[in-house]
Amino acid sequence: MKTVIFGGTFNPFHNGHLLLSREAIKAVRPDRFIIMPSHIPPHKVAEELMSDEHRLNMCRLAAKELGDIAEVSDFELISGGKSYTVITLEHFKELYPDDELYFAMGSDMLITFLRWYRPDRILELATLICNCRDSRDYEAVKAAKADIEAVGGRVILTECEPLVCSSTDIRKKLDKNEPIDDLVPPSVAEYIKRKGLYRD
Ligand code: ATP
Repeated sequence: MKTVIFGGTFNPFHNGHLLLSREAIKAVRPDRFIIMPSHIPPHKVAEELMSDEHRLNMCRLAAKELGDIAEVSDFELISGGKSYTVITLEHFKELYPDDELYFAMGSDMLITFLRWYRPDRILELATLICNCRDSRDYEAVKAAKADIEAVGGRVILTECEPLVCSSTDIRKKLDKNEPIDDLVPPSVAEYIKRKGLYRD
């Protein structure tokens, strides 16, 4: 069986995340696609991090867009502390010892991947699958793929056009009372509105 894990802060889950999920599913044809909201991301400063509950709920609504293979895991939220990918992958290797594991990410993450905690072990445990976030990243992504392969890693680059979109932009728009309907799945837009999230 094939299991894809897609980690992130998902603050909130947006259409760029959805596109990456769909492309990863198209490329890998996994049996399980697991969305994994992180507790504290080790790779960046998480600004205005919404509560675990709201982020989990938004991920669950987004997962419905991806069909039966998609699920949301609260493993990192329950574990607490910094959410290291290597620990998450060790967990799933133990849970599904016979599965091939994949870890999905955007180009900003692939470009910095070799500076993550224990990239060597992550590459033993999983194949990376990456969507470009911005066409200006193409060269850096190709270079990152080559560097990762040079140390024995496996990287799949998806072929779709990038969708330039970030949670930061969405939070800024919400703060200014601007519409976000074309940037997040409709169910997530409705949830944000109903709960009055990201408004000061
Ligand atoms: P923020 O703006 O709050 O930093 P973000 O938009 O980068 O958030 P994350 O939840 O941090 O979203 O991202 C989770 C994963 O999704 C990361 O691997 C990231 O690279 C990837 N990702 C985010 N946005 C896109 C996008 N537009 N296209 C492809 N991948 C994306």
